[in-house]
Amino acid sequence: MGMTNLNTQDLTARIKAEAKRIGFDLVGVTGPAPPSHLDVYHQWLAKGRYGSMSYLADERALKRRSDPLQILPECESILTVAVNYLPEDEQHAKDTPRVAAYARGDDYHDVLIERLERLTEFIATQMGESVPHRMYTDTGPLLERELAQRSGLGWIGKNTCLINPSHGSYFLLAELLLGVQLEPDAPFEEDRCGTCTRCIDACPTSCILPDRTLDARLCISYLTIEHKDSVPLELREKIGNWLFGCDICQQVCPWNRFSMPTKDPTFQTRSLLKPPDIEDLLNLAPGTWPKHLHGSPLLRPRRRGLVRNAAIVAGNQRIQAAVPRLIELLLHDQESLLRGHAAWALGQIGGTSALMALREAKETETDPIVLAEIEAAFIFL
Ligand code: SF4
Ligand code: SF4
Repeated sequence: MGMTNLNTQDLTARIKAEAKRIGFDLVGVTGPAPPSHLDVYHQWLAKGRYGSMSYLADERALKRRSDPLQILPECESILTVAVNYLPEDEQHAKDTPRVAAYARGDDYHDVLIERLERLTEFIATQMGESVPHRMYTDTGPLLERELAQRSGLGWIGKNTCLINPSHGSYFLLAELLLGVQLEPDAPFEEDRCGTCTRCIDACPTSCILPDRTLDARLCISYLTIEHKDSVPLELREKIGNWLFGCDICQQVCPWNRFSMPTKDPTFQTRSLLKPPDIEDLLNLAPGTWPKHLHGSPLLRPRRRGLVRNAAIVAGNQRIQAAVPRLIELLLHDQESLLRGHAAWALGQIGGTSALMALREAKETETDPIVLAEIEAAFIFL
């Protein structure tokens, strides 16, 4: 069927219905106007709050983020979609090693892009020809949430998440830029956070800023996923039992009382992450990935990051059973980052064998940074 048979309203309604059928929970439309919060974003960048995510400050990326027409000159509409990722077994277990809810199933990038591709094919069928388009998911900390807000999907909360008044904030967002005129939705203008400050009060590292941005350098989500190097000593204890990501500022949000878990198999917790086994993770050998982690977002920080995180959790939770493996890392791992974090964890856990291993490492270690970690570890013992 060609475009001649469809007016903008019908076409928009059909595309939205198909998007829901494909598995998107929320769908909205906005125009290609540049984002209005760009100044806040630029200030955030200027203050270096992006940590080592330098791709966010990349000039080409900045230009593209400042104007959708830089990405797709033919862009007439932006379809914003949101997928609920809350796994069915989400329980607020306090004691076991934790993985952020969005990361317990499959890598969402592939899943969302694949669904958007299917939607693009549907649009081409409706139009009788393929249409200019570009698709994105998770491209930046601000733009996509603003686009979602502008499409009526919700407001940007103080915790920086997009919050939908009926469904809460456990959503992944994606955008489809289209060279097709669609009917825009009214923006979501209200700020329903009101006087609430629960997320700000609960954040272990106090990284939620008043202008609805985060100081990523302090955020556990950033530290355990994006940050590649040593976790500053003063932040390690604050990471608690978060092995990968952090959901605290969403868990405490009253709007998430309305969140319903998804039935989508993509996002259900893999059985081997129920809960994650810290000893197994500490045992990860270089260059190998256990089968149960294939296609999981947990691969993003690579072995180096994941084993580092596991050492921090082992230290914070005083996991005695992890001591032999931490000693192995301290004395023999090729990565100085891991030797250093193993030293810290052994210092936290304590005990005779930890002490002996640290003494041995003090004699054999040559890296000054690891030696400093070993010295610091003795303080706890
Ligand atoms: S994800 Fe965790 S550390 Fe980051 S802002 Fe939220 S509560 Fe704070
Ligand atoms: S916890 Fe309160 S302040 Fe924070 S995002 Fe939710 S409603 Fe807004």
